[in-house]
Amino acid sequence: MTATLPTLDEICREFEELADAAERLEYLIEIGRALPDLPDEARVEANRVQGCQSNVWLVAERMPGTPSRLTFVADSDAPMVKGLVAILLAAYSGRTVAEILAFAPETLFEQLKLRTFITPMRSNGLHSMVLHVRALAKFVQQSETRESPEVMQPTAPPLERTPAASSLPLSADEVDALRADFPILDTKLDDGRPLVYLDNAATTQHPRQVIAAMVEAYEKYYSNVHRGGHALAARTTERYEAARRSVQRLLGAEHAHEIVFTSGTTAAINLVARSWGDANLRAGDEVLLTQMEHHSNLIPWQQLAQRTGCRLRFLPVTDDGRLELSQLPQFLTERTRLIGVTAVSNVTGTINPLPALVSAARACGALILVDAAQAVPHQAIDVRELDIDFLAFSGHKLLGPSGIGVLYGKERLLDATPPFLGGGSMIRSASLTDFVPAALPSKFEAGTPPIVPAIGLGAAIEYLQKIGLDRIHVYEQQLTRRAHAALESIEGLRLLGPTPDLKGGIVTFHSAAMHADDIAKVLDAFGIAVRAGHHCAMPLHERFGLAASCRASFYLYNTPAEVDALAAGLVEAQRIIRRGTR
Ligand code: PMP
Repeated sequence: MTATLPTLDEICREFEELADAAERLEYLIEIGRALPDLPDEARVEANRVQGCQSNVWLVAERMPGTPSRLTFVADSDAPMVKGLVAILLAAYSGRTVAEILAFAPETLFEQLKLRTFITPMRSNGLHSMVLHVRALAKFVQQSETRESPEVMQPTAPPLERTPAASSLPLSADEVDALRADFPILDTKLDDGRPLVYLDNAATTQHPRQVIAAMVEAYEKYYSNVHRGGHALAARTTERYEAARRSVQRLLGAEHAHEIVFTSGTTAAINLVARSWGDANLRAGDEVLLTQMEHHSNLIPWQQLAQRTGCRLRFLPVTDDGRLELSQLPQFLTERTRLIGVTAVSNVTGTINPLPALVSAARACGALILVDAAQAVPHQAIDVRELDIDFLAFSGHKLLGPSGIGVLYGKERLLDATPPFLGGGSMIRSASLTDFVPAALPSKFEAGTPPIVPAIGLGAAIEYLQKIGLDRIHVYEQQLTRRAHAALESIEGLRLLGPTPDLKGGIVTFHSAAMHADDIAKVLDAFGIAVRAGHHCAMPLHERFGLAASCRASFYLYNTPAEVDALAAGLVEAQRIIRRGTR
């Protein structure tokens, strides 16, 4: 006989009556056993909750008879986590989307005293599950706004169970159609071969819509921003600020003035290290980074350490390219002032568990800076839901132009941080001896900003959001899985990083028999563009005992056929190089 899932009231009553942590744990496992079965076809990557240590699959469905309400079905392979899942299902199932989004689970967790008897890792996993539930509810809300701006459609069909509607990957037809938006993909190389562009982690290509927005700016209304009272200045300023609002929506930031335009991720991180770092860090304070950081999130902190005497510490990386999260507590002290971490490694593609890292920062009163250069272009990131303090990304990795990037910072932090560069536009008033800084965001945008690139970035965000970042993420993971399967079977090739389910669209490999540069050269002769080198992550390569590696990285316009071309090219490269060394 299967037990029935208790209601939220029943769970709360029982928890209150149970005297100690052991009894509560036992009860948690018991209610976990009462979870209804989740069909095998729902246990797919698309439904997996990212950020949990164990496997958790969670799917939303409309309630039969009352489709304005959602129910959730879920399961985990860990008995205790099943109990936590049962609590979440009892808390969220049967509610409307608005109720789900308004519900503050922290109060419930406090009432159940969950934090007192579950480990921080479990607690982080729970937080990730809540984010997943909210993301599904938001997706339903957005799809309803698209279908009918005013009312929920009472006859809307139930959500697809598998994969979750929010995560349907791009279809082959869609990819074919969107490829037509990218003129460069028609390029034929010198010998007539088509271009296979697999260097998207370095920079991405531009759809016509982005190019057209920039050409329109130059041809129809270009001027400087925030200066001059003429019509062109007003129009340019309006478009520039509209781009800022697009970034605000993309990141879920509370205010548009929390978005500072910079020239890229590197400039954004330098801004924080210089301005926030110099103002706040003293000798002996600690900044916790990781062994997998791009030099952009390493050198600025080294320079800060040279200036202030602060100490840098580094969370190690496992042999398969994941963060050693179990060691995190040893690296956090009362002197830790900031955790700086990449959301996705540009070498291994590892997706780092941001909720766990944010919780760790909160636990020791530190701030968290997220290098999202490889994340924002490929997956939905909500800075408020994740409670991120600073976040940086670049426009050129997101279908936008180079020369534009973003620093997101919480209003109160940016307000309290002194300006970085001095010059025009960043002052409220100036005398020969002093100045009063302007309000946000101008305070951090000295001089003429990258105006047209910002407008191009706005167009790129619009383009990506029409398709849906969640869908792009799932599609890229499909390409990654295909690449792993093909490359793992090539003799002598070593793939860096974890299994595809823990990665974005990056596949990096090394061969003892072939230098990374040689591989890239041979692939180039076949029209396949990949990157060879240390990818601005020398310490991570040292960790793997390598000087260089070869990286293929995917984006929404890449196809399974291109992945196959990469695999075939590698087999051929091996044959050619072996023949040459005989
Ligand atoms: N961080 C990561 C993870 C990156 O991949 C890159 C670009 N390769 C950067 C930072 C630097 O970005 P940018 O050169 O646009 O400043």
